[in-house]
Amino acid sequence: MTQVNENFLKLKAGYLFPEIARRVSAFSEANPAAKVIKLGIGDVTEPLPAACRKAMHDAIDEMGDRATFKGYGPEQGYAFLREAIAAHDYAARGCDIAADEVFISDGSKCDTGNILDIFGPDNTIAVTDPVYPVYVDTNVMAGHTGAANDAGEFAGLVYLPVTADNDFVAPLPEQKVDLIYLCYPNNPTGAVATAEYLAQWVAYAKQHDSIILYDAAYEAFITDPDIPHSIYEVDGARDCAIEFRSFSKNAGFTGTRCALTVVPRSLSRKAANGTGVSLHGLWNRRQSTKFNGVSYIIQRGAAAVYTDEGRQQTGELVAFYLENARLIREALTEAGYAVYGGVNSPYVWIKTPDGLSSWDFFDKLLGEAHVVGTPGSGFGAAGEGYFRISAFNSRANVEEAMQRITTGVGV
Ligand SMILES: *Cc1c(COP(=O)(O)O)cnc(C)c1O
Repeated sequence: MTQVNENFLKLKAGYLFPEIARRVSAFSEANPAAKVIKLGIGDVTEPLPAACRKAMHDAIDEMGDRATFKGYGPEQGYAFLREAIAAHDYAARGCDIAADEVFISDGSKCDTGNILDIFGPDNTIAVTDPVYPVYVDTNVMAGHTGAANDAGEFAGLVYLPVTADNDFVAPLPEQKVDLIYLCYPNNPTGAVATAEYLAQWVAYAKQHDSIILYDAAYEAFITDPDIPHSIYEVDGARDCAIEFRSFSKNAGFTGTRCALTVVPRSLSRKAANGTGVSLHGLWNRRQSTKFNGVSYIIQRGAAAVYTDEGRQQTGELVAFYLENARLIREALTEAGYAVYGGVNSPYVWIKTPDGLSSWDFFDKLLGEAHVVGTPGSGFGAAGEGYFRISAFNSRANVEEAMQRITTGVGV
């Protein structure tokens, strides 16, 4: 008899976004005249920068000419893009990352899940709570956890709660963990990590021989010059960290798909027989076996992000969302909410008023202001009592949503 992967059955059935969609459509059916504004799912709304579109048009024309047509590209990505990333994202910030340590992919969501292929089954894994659900669910699918309890916590994972009590900065674990997922600026809390804090993690990882999986998908939203954009800005991180970045949020590539993962050549760990194994080598092997590269057209579009025009246009895009975040922060603060994040980040994280549960507040906000956000409990047990508002929307929608919340929903 064929066996299925039973690990999938451990995943929580009522997943966050389908449940949100169910409640919104039930509300809209009962209230057909209500204009619902969605500040929930973390997807971008503004169109692709002109520089990226132009580069993609030109690449399409190259594909239409026998002399410049391209078939399969390198699985690791084209040199022109890897070099631009090494120069602009890393060398320019003083990070010692070479182009051949950058692997181009079709998304950080995929990479943060796929990276588990190169690690053994018995690592102790730490995540913050609340957390981007992909880190947890991919470990569940890979059989790295036991079952979930009623709060949604999976046996075998180490959860590091982040709440207002610790300023949304996870304390380092007391015990030894082997793999640590960190995401800064954080989805969902909007918190950022200082260089001192990341240095503590690097010291921890070196002491325990652990690996940090650093998700920097929102680094472009950092405006504070003292906040690091990359884990490699910390000395020693080359020996204990893998970094994930994406063009999804800085350049609006959520539907276009392009991202990158950095695996330094100096990153190695011992196999059971004691020999040193290069993680760069393993990831290279994994990608060249299971992946056939990102479309040339898309990689040309991504490379245009690093041109003068592209930097100007993506800068404007990010500034637009940050201004939305500022408007949300200010309106909600004025309305009396306890507000976190939303600076150096497109996410505003609020404490639900009157001790309401995250889902009760969701229903209240939808019912009274016709505004959709994301219940904090959907990101983990410690997110209960919190709520995420996303700045990814048009200015008009953000302004109207804030107007409705500040006048329509009692605090
Ligand atoms: C949006 C997001 C990403 C980017 O994922 P892609 O697959 O590259 O679109 C990565 N990590 C987090 C935490 C995100 O919110």
